[in-house]
Amino acid sequence: MKVPVFNKEQIQEIIKKYPTPFHLYDEKGIRETARALNDAFSWNEGYKEYFAVKALPNPTILKILKEEGCGVDCASETELMLAEALGFTGEEIMFSSNVTPAKEYVYARKLDAIINLDDYSHIDFLKENGGIPETICLRYNPGGDFQIGTSIMGSPWDAKYGMTKTQLMAGIRKLSAMGAKKFGIHAFLSSNTTDKNYYPYLAKELFTLAVEMNKLTGAEISFINLSGGIGIPYRPEDRPVDIKEVGEGVRKMYERTIAKAGMKVAIKTELGRFMTGPHGYLVSTVLHEKKIYKDYIGLDACAVNLMRPAMYGAYHHITVMGKEDAPHDTLYDVTGSLCENNDKFAVNRALPKIDIGDIVVIHDTGAHGFSMGYNYNGKLRSAEVLLKEDGSTQLIRRAETPKDYFATLDFTDTF
Ligand SMILES: *Cc1c(COP(=O)(O)O)cnc(C)c1O
Repeated sequence: MKVPVFNKEQIQEIIKKYPTPFHLYDEKGIRETARALNDAFSWNEGYKEYFAVKALPNPTILKILKEEGCGVDCASETELMLAEALGFTGEEIMFSSNVTPAKEYVYARKLDAIINLDDYSHIDFLKENGGIPETICLRYNPGGDFQIGTSIMGSPWDAKYGMTKTQLMAGIRKLSAMGAKKFGIHAFLSSNTTDKNYYPYLAKELFTLAVEMNKLTGAEISFINLSGGIGIPYRPEDRPVDIKEVGEGVRKMYERTIAKAGMKVAIKTELGRFMTGPHGYLVSTVLHEKKIYKDYIGLDACAVNLMRPAMYGAYHHITVMGKEDAPHDTLYDVTGSLCENNDKFAVNRALPKIDIGDIVVIHDTGAHGFSMGYNYNGKLRSAEVLLKEDGSTQLIRRAETPKDYFATLDFTDTF
């Protein structure tokens, strides 16, 4: 059974302080995941996780991850600003952007972040906007389908990211001539995968490429960036990824390729979902029930607080607090209040009988949850609350007010 890390009495106490809806993040869980990851790759000298800021761009969370030894993976000006404000500098920042504005390269270079170039044409663009650094990463797109055995894990041929192998090699040569000395190679070929072979197979491909590039260009390939993509068990029947096993799988590939060639590379990752996804909950209250052709439960949270179900039809598990053990014998659509029929957190979900005022908790909102939020229908973004290791709570982002919503207009002084 999939249950939250808190019970009904605890959440009722928390709701007295912070009205629903809000996202609640479990500090203990986040720290444990970060430690397990660092342990799984501790065999590799120079290993570093760069948390994908877009997954959960909250400074308090980033600070927790910094304490656990993580860097940050940024892709925009504001993400770089967050990184700078929290004291991340130099090689603690990976700048894995695409379609990058000039001023963002200038800013990333000012922070001495590692630039991860998405395209060959960005070499000259970076030269003019910030300059070529000594250490630089290139993003690879192998084309075709990315397969493990017979299952297709991703379709790089159809993805906008990265450069071809020919461009990668030409890029390394060109950058070397411009003064770059150390190179990284990055690829992101599958998203939200709980297949423990994903990282090992991706690593094998990139390690082999690193050996080849080193032979052909003579350049020092000093790191391999496996990016993000490791998934989480959204459904109760999904098995979590055993990260220790993943680390071992990557180590085997390392020995067969990099070590065999007498080379040494540091491994970098940019995990987002895996780090914080399972450790967030969207906490909401049941406002209405309506019975027409189906039975609808209406929450005070809606798709602006969590877009994944509306956007991808993604499954998010739901717990009705205090009714965990009751028979799940009623079929509901659980909805928000947007004037959009896809504003449904669940469709035809078997749940215990729900009453108005019940607390409904939506699981796995700790990554790509709050951060995908928007303001459609004039709905406001919720608060974010940290559940600390000692059981106390801290408001780590206040809820938006109408004033925030109107802040970009210039007629507010008439209110
Ligand atoms: C989104 C993204 C990540 C994180 O992806 P997850 O699926 O959350 O692990 C890492 N790197 C890059 C470049 C990304 O765009």
